[in-house]
Amino acid sequence: MIVDGLPTAVAEPVMAEIAAALRAAGIEVVSAATIAHEPEVGDVDRLAAELRQRDAAPGDFMLAVGGGAAIDLAKAAAAMATNPQSTTVRDYLENVGRGLQITEAPLPVLAMPSTAGTGAEATRNAVISCYDPPFKKSLRDARILPRIALVDPELTVTVPAAVTAASGMDAITQLIESYISRKAQPIPQALSVQGLRLALPAIAAAVEQGASRSPREAMAHAALLSGMALANSGLGMAHGVAAALGIHCRVSHGLACAVMLPVALRINRPLRQFELAELARSLFGLDAKMPAAEAAETFCAQIDALCRRVGVPSRLSALGVRPEQVPDLVRSSRGASMSGNPRELSDAELTSILEAML
Ligand SMILES: [Zn+2]
Repeated sequence: MIVDGLPTAVAEPVMAEIAAALRAAGIEVVSAATIAHEPEVGDVDRLAAELRQRDAAPGDFMLAVGGGAAIDLAKAAAAMATNPQSTTVRDYLENVGRGLQITEAPLPVLAMPSTAGTGAEATRNAVISCYDPPFKKSLRDARILPRIALVDPELTVTVPAAVTAASGMDAITQLIESYISRKAQPIPQALSVQGLRLALPAIAAAVEQGASRSPREAMAHAALLSGMALANSGLGMAHGVAAALGIHCRVSHGLACAVMLPVALRINRPLRQFELAELARSLFGLDAKMPAAEAAETFCAQIDALCRRVGVPSRLSALGVRPEQVPDLVRSSRGASMSGNPRELSDAELTSILEAML
């Protein structure tokens, strides 16, 4: 059963090729859903109902071809198809439903990411949105991790520049936030360093010369590493606020993370000076004798410059955020991501940070 999240202009030949290869291997192919937006509760419920109606059972599997939206939709529906205690995924989401748990093994998911960004092919959660009432929450279970992640950078070559910039900055945000998270651990940190070593020199070329293969390959691998890192270490403030920007202001996940990253670094720098200095030294070849404060500042300045280079706005007003929305943004930023942020932020502090960004 296939979930397709490719842009319509490129979907037809790619999906036809994949379906033909599966049929040639004797596998029955069913096109189950097409999605062009971040998945909502209704999307998951509809797809899960269809899977149950088709008597999806062991032996069936989900193939998601697309960005994080298609992969997360497939992961969530794969779990709901085999766990019919409720007809809505909302009852399984963190803090918003009846707190039901996934008990039966989900259908296996094979993920083929077509954007280099979310790393959803390597995470154990699926992010699901709802606009009324507004929330953006995760369905979590170790078993919704895709069984196979097939990362083919060729699929990302046709992604437009703006989406390449936003999804690439999402991956970079995930690599940095997981590295400095309160839940950071040494092995995922090593993955983050390697991911940043690939992504930082490649993102501008991937945006500006989209057809060039080597930057696309670097970004695809960095995104996969970012998923592995965040699945083990959590995230931070940029992702916390990004969820709120998504549901209240309809800002795409990647763009929201990209706008918040420079501010999140400045807010956390005093508590993570050592880590940011270490990143700067290993990624930018700084003199080992450079004081930590100066090296950490160099790291923040380089990220600022990278955001400007790939066209990320620095002000929330550029995303359509209005001053009267700030209280809603503060309230909806308190998800699992925020709990990994090094600095504890009061509502008053977060309010003044967001107001200063308007
Ligand atoms: Zn992200």
